Amino acid sequence: MSSSTDPFVSSQSQPERKPANMHPARAATRAVHGRVPRRGHGAPLLAPIVQGATFVQEEPGAACAHTYSRASNPTVAELEDRLGAFEDALPALAFASGLAATQVLALACLSAGDHAVVGAASYGGTVRLFAQILAPLGIRTSFVDASDARAVATAIEPRTRLVLIETPANPALSLADIAAIAAVTRGSGALLAVDNTFLTAAIQRPLDLGADVTLYSTTKWIEGHHATIGGALVTRDEALRTRLAFLRKSLGCIQAPFDAWLTLQGLKTLALRMEAHSEAALRVARAAHGHPALARVIYPGLDDFPQRALALRQHRGGHGGIVTVDLAGGRAAATAFVRALRVVTLAESLGGVETLATHPETMTHGDVPPAQRAATGITPGLVRLSIGLEDPEDLVDDIVGALDVAHDVVHDAVYGAASTAAGEVTNVG
Ligand code: PLP
Repeated sequence: MSSSTDPFVSSQSQPERKPANMHPARAATRAVHGRVPRRGHGAPLLAPIVQGATFVQEEPGAACAHTYSRASNPTVAELEDRLGAFEDALPALAFASGLAATQVLALACLSAGDHAVVGAASYGGTVRLFAQILAPLGIRTSFVDASDARAVATAIEPRTRLVLIETPANPALSLADIAAIAAVTRGSGALLAVDNTFLTAAIQRPLDLGADVTLYSTTKWIEGHHATIGGALVTRDEALRTRLAFLRKSLGCIQAPFDAWLTLQGLKTLALRMEAHSEAALRVARAAHGHPALARVIYPGLDDFPQRALALRQHRGGHGGIVTVDLAGGRAAATAFVRALRVVTLAESLGGVETLATHPETMTHGDVPPAQRAATGITPGLVRLSIGLEDPEDLVDDIVGALDVAHDVVHDAVYGAASTAAGEVTNVG
């Protein structure tokens, strides 16, 4: 390559590398190397785990990068820098859980007398936090259908300080149009937060679409191996970040160094994994589509997905690893289905290399009022599948095979008695 086309080589006569602290341009590179690549002869390639509560200070009052690990810690800070760099934002704030991040976000925006607008189709723990913990503190919440930007606009009141949407929403995968809702919240005095847990910034970039802050359960795709619980908030707003950091320190819910270190390793492969999860999810969704045991297969990559145009506009490079199936035979069919799975495991989470099945009505959304569950499409037969990194053919065989079993079980329950009775009559005859 000639010096004029090599981006690392200057055109001066004395060729010279770009400075070691150059900012790599693309998100996947930043996820691997951070904003400032590690340099130094003999330096560890991986950021070390700084396991410790406190830090040496040489004299009272002197500025110190880290003083106490409830406020900040070097390993956590390394993760935060990469998470922020991944979406062209300030260093993120990492939390002990996704719900700790949601709680800090809520308390940063809302005091007694204030009002929040939250997507009705949100993770059950989010609904519980606003309905059962914040309501008694005098913070009112309207749960609205966030797939309708006009419904969000109508719900905004003079005291609305936070609009929190989840897209795709958990577990029925309805989408919210982030740009349209940002147009509504802009200038309203309310902050727009997007729970981007289901897709991550590898697929969807809410801050580019006008959101003020993104929220993550890093427990899921970001850490990606079902090994930790964690959360994160990402923003480009310096004042908001300072307020969030103050609340995190005051409430005591920062992520632990070892969990942050594991999350950091997960982040490095996030872009690649999201591609693989998305491809495998599409194969599973197509294979399950039309199965007689199913009332619906919901996946934004399917042609019959109700908000297909928005999915194509808002997602890039795939639609994530969640496929939701609705068994026509209700709870009995869902139970027969999950019992028959051999590769897929029934468990309460998503986003890792192992494929999981979750029954939202009895698991993740058990605390959501039944009417709100019904209104957001959570039927007794709904099963959420988080597609992992097993061979997709094994997943298709396992899932379609279990659907066959569920179909037979329900069919026998409905028609079995009648055919047995008919059989007895025939035998007697
Ligand atoms: N947001 C979404 C979309 C989730 O699915 C979850 C957990 O399932 C959370 C937030 C809360 O995260 P955590 O379980 O890490 O507290």
